[in-house]
Amino acid sequence: MSEPYDIEPMFDPAMAGLDSEQAEVVTRARNLALSKFEPRAAALDREAIFPTENYQDLHASGLLAICVPKEDGGLGADFKTYMLAAAEIGRFCGATALTWNMHVCSCLWTGALADDLEMSPNDSASHRERRRRHYKRIVDEGAIYSQPFSEGGPAAAGAAPFSTKAVPVDGGWRITGKKIFASLAGHAHYYGILCGEMVEGHKPSRRDTMYVAVPANADGVRVAGDWDPLGMRATVSRTLLFEDVFVPADEALMPRGIYYQAATRWPHMFMTLSPAYMGIAQAAYDFTIQYLRGEVPGTPPVKRRMYPTKQLAVAQMHLMLESTKSLWLQAVRDARPDPAKADVLRAYAAQHAVMENANELCQLALRTCGGQSMLKALPLERLYRDSRCGSLMLPWTAEICLDRIGREALYRPGETDLADAD
Ligand SMILES: Cc1cc2nc3c(=O)[nH]c(=O)nc-3n(C[C@H](O)[C@H](O)[C@H](O)COP(=O)(O)OP(=O)(O)OC[C@H]3O[C@@H](n4cnc5c(N)ncnc54)[C@H](O)[C@@H]3O)c2cc1C
Repeated sequence: MSEPYDIEPMFDPAMAGLDSEQAEVVTRARNLALSKFEPRAAALDREAIFPTENYQDLHASGLLAICVPKEDGGLGADFKTYMLAAAEIGRFCGATALTWNMHVCSCLWTGALADDLEMSPNDSASHRERRRRHYKRIVDEGAIYSQPFSEGGPAAAGAAPFSTKAVPVDGGWRITGKKIFASLAGHAHYYGILCGEMVEGHKPSRRDTMYVAVPANADGVRVAGDWDPLGMRATVSRTLLFEDVFVPADEALMPRGIYYQAATRWPHMFMTLSPAYMGIAQAAYDFTIQYLRGEVPGTPPVKRRMYPTKQLAVAQMHLMLESTKSLWLQAVRDARPDPAKADVLRAYAAQHAVMENANELCQLALRTCGGQSMLKALPLERLYRDSRCGSLMLPWTAEICLDRIGREALYRPGETDLADAD
């Protein structure tokens, strides 16, 4: 679309509250995505191929370790810096931004986020020791982690324990189960799964959820099924099967009980799927401006900007984009342990707005730019297909965000009505 390094940031660094070091990380992500990822995006999408080269570039640029603490050789980025960097990548390749999220969460959740939680001194010491090992693989070897949680049932929605089971054995666990839509399947070196630890005398409980890195080459790990979806095709989200896989105790990404504590005390952790789609929303708007000005490279220099209906549509897109970005940035800045109820409702609202409005903006872009803009030689039809996937991402699907806003706005914790008790 534009020449490398000649594009405005999505968010003004000062307005976003970034210091110069954080701003540099976001700029680094934007420049890499613009110069390297965007030119590769169409072919990866067409063939539904994993962006291996992009991951090599992420490693070389240090961004594979964006949320690895500095003392462990990473960039030490916090939640906000990561979210803004991921949005910049999403502008140029949605599938890379989405898969990068799965990888980065294995560092962000075990790093900055875990440091906000309560752990016994013993747990804290063993956690630090273990995560250092994970981080070293990423920094030194370019190891890629994924995050397959979904099972096709209520667990990924947070409504039931995971049916993938970890049975404690000498030195670790034996893990059995199935994960669907496992982005990076066959390409990650470690699958960071959520599973239910079987504890003697306990009924299965969400409190016994373990977050464990399963080495992709362990005996009993299999990638199954094909992958030919509507959008986000380069995520290669195939099915993963775990058949009595032995996983050593050192592969625990969090100590017992800490994932449950994170999910309940640090709810903004579930917003990390949204920046890929925030970037797509911006890209749809940017494309529309460029196209109506007759400035999209490789297309005839036909101007369409003089028609009042198109100007009105651009204004409508601008309003939607600006309000979505403002709400999203505010929610990103709110993230912290034990947020106030108003902040949690805002996080749901922001997630809903990004996921639904990214697709709405792509629809408006197609309608406004016109028929030639949907040809596969141009990025808009890919943005449109990719954007449709956002609302489907558990645990905070667009529907679940609405459910929770309605319920949590009307009820305080523990409150019920007579009708509910029947
Ligand atoms: C491109 C792409 C990449 C993905 N990558 C990953 C990944 O890397 N890791 C990962 O874990 N997942 C990933 N997902 C999966 C995603 O997060 C969802 O789990 C998946 O889309 C759910 O599909 P489903 O048909 O089972 O959904 P649904 O049937 O809609 O939901 C599954 C279950 O969730 C519960 N549920 C759904 N809606 C509600 C509701 N409103 N209220 C209460 N309960 C509800 C129900 O029990 C339902 O059976 C990806 C999805 C896509 C599209």
